[in-house]
Amino acid sequence: MRKRLPLRALAAGLALLLALCAGCTPQPEKHTETFAAMDTVMTLTLYGGEDGTLSAAKDRVLELESLLSVTDPDSEIAALNRDGSAALSPDAAELLGRALELCGRTGGALDVTIYPVVRAWGFTTGNYAVPDGGVIADLLTRVDYTQVRLDGGTASLPEGFELDLGAVAKGYTGDTLAALLKENGVTSALLELGGNIHTVGTKPDGSDWRVAVRDPAGDGYVGVVSVASKAVITSGGYERYFEEGGVRYWHIMDPKTGAPARSGLASVTVVADSGVYGDALSTALFVMGLDGALDYWRANRDFEAIFVAEDGSVTVTAGLEDAFALSGRHNMAVARP
Ligand code: AMP
Ligand code: MG
Repeated sequence: MRKRLPLRALAAGLALLLALCAGCTPQPEKHTETFAAMDTVMTLTLYGGEDGTLSAAKDRVLELESLLSVTDPDSEIAALNRDGSAALSPDAAELLGRALELCGRTGGALDVTIYPVVRAWGFTTGNYAVPDGGVIADLLTRVDYTQVRLDGGTASLPEGFELDLGAVAKGYTGDTLAALLKENGVTSALLELGGNIHTVGTKPDGSDWRVAVRDPAGDGYVGVVSVASKAVITSGGYERYFEEGGVRYWHIMDPKTGAPARSGLASVTVVADSGVYGDALSTALFVMGLDGALDYWRANRDFEAIFVAEDGSVTVTAGLEDAFALSGRHNMAVARP
């Protein structure tokens, strides 16, 4: 009996200590910065990690921008477009290789040679105009991703062709940053790269990140998706557009018609492990339209998505049924395999 008392006292003391410590567990330090890059505003928020990780992450974004920007005359992509051939850095070569593969997987709904068409409509220059049919037909003879050659680190294009990696560059940037952060001991981070959100791990308290999906028709949200360690990437007609004669023309082009993709969708949000894949798909599924996009999902099942149609209706793929919380005034359908 006498021996048990100190043991009990010890157990009670330990329990008290644990209870107290639960309230004072050191939270990882928050580091955050907002800056302009890749034609958008980015906010990186990291928890924990080594000193200097945040500035290393920002420097990496600026480095990728300087390699990949189609409008920066000093970028590798601009050199390729100007000279028809260029030696690419490992980053640009890897991204171009993966982008070409995804152009093929999406049956050309994604086509990285769409740039002459994008420019004719004034996107990337700001000189918006509806080109006439003859101009578009001529430009479409220079749109065909199968004509791009990538041999080791050297890329080449036929005469008159031009590349634009704008549909996938931010996705690649998110993947690159997530890897850099993990190497530096960051287990929790939220990377907001314009319409692309990349999450590393969970929130510091262990709960999922909650990412709002914008209402393409207004300032509000259609709902919130809960995720951990995923990329959540949206392509929407509302992101960049101009209006002429009462018609809205946006920056996502159908490579078959050379005109803004009018598939009945107003936005596509893809939830995927890979940012490049999610970014390529958000653009390509927007071009395909809801039926084509769901066919692609059923055939692949390696991502989930939230589709908002121009009539405001929302469709989510089955894997998001529990993770997506719809805001009040929308209708939602769940697509099954
Ligand atoms: P995102 O915002 O990821 O959907 O990418 C849209 C950007 O990619 C546009 O601003 C264009 O520069 C380019 N783009 C537009 N349509 C396509 C397409 N069908 N395939 C590849 N890139 C495209
Ligand atoms: Mg994209």
